[in-house]
Amino acid sequence: MRQDKLQPALGEVRAVYAELAKRPLERSCRSLTGCCQFQLTGLTPQLTKGEALVAAKGVRASGRKELPESADGTCPLLKRETGRCLIYADRPFGCRTHFCEAAGGPHARKEILDLIRRLEEVDRKLGGAGPRNIQAAVADALEELS
Ligand code: SF4
Repeated sequence: MRQDKLQPALGEVRAVYAELAKRPLERSCRSLTGCCQFQLTGLTPQLTKGEALVAAKGVRASGRKELPESADGTCPLLKRETGRCLIYADRPFGCRTHFCEAAGGPHARKEILDLIRRLEEVDRKLGGAGPRNIQAAVADALEELS
C-alpha cells in the first residue's frame, strides 16, 4: 500500500481512538479479557480496513509478521502466557466500545456514531469492503503491510 494513503489513514484511526478516550463516557477496561473469548461470548469484533491496518501495525511492532494461531476460539491477539492483549494500544474500536459488562456495558450507538462514520470513511478511502471479522481483516492487513 502506498505510504501517502496509508499514513493519513492510520492517523485518522488513531485520532478516532483518542477522541473516544476523551469522551465523558463511563467505561473502564479492566483487562479481564472476557470480551476476547469469542467462543464464550459468541461475538467477534468486526474491523474496518483502517482499524485492521492499525492492528496489523501493532502485531508487527510486537515482532511478528503473521497472526498467531488460535485453535480454541479465543482472539488470536490474546497472549496466552500473560493473558494480555498483544496489541492493547492498537486494539480495534469494537474492543473499546462493545459489550463488556465489567467495563460498564456497551456504548449506545448514538454516543459514538460520529466516530463510526469516520472509521467508515477511512474504510471507503482505502477501498475496504466494510467491517470484517478480526481474524480475516488483520491477516489481510498484515499481507498488505509486507
Ligand atoms: S484485539 Fe485484544 S482486546 Fe480485542 S479481542 Fe483481541 S485480545 Fe481482546
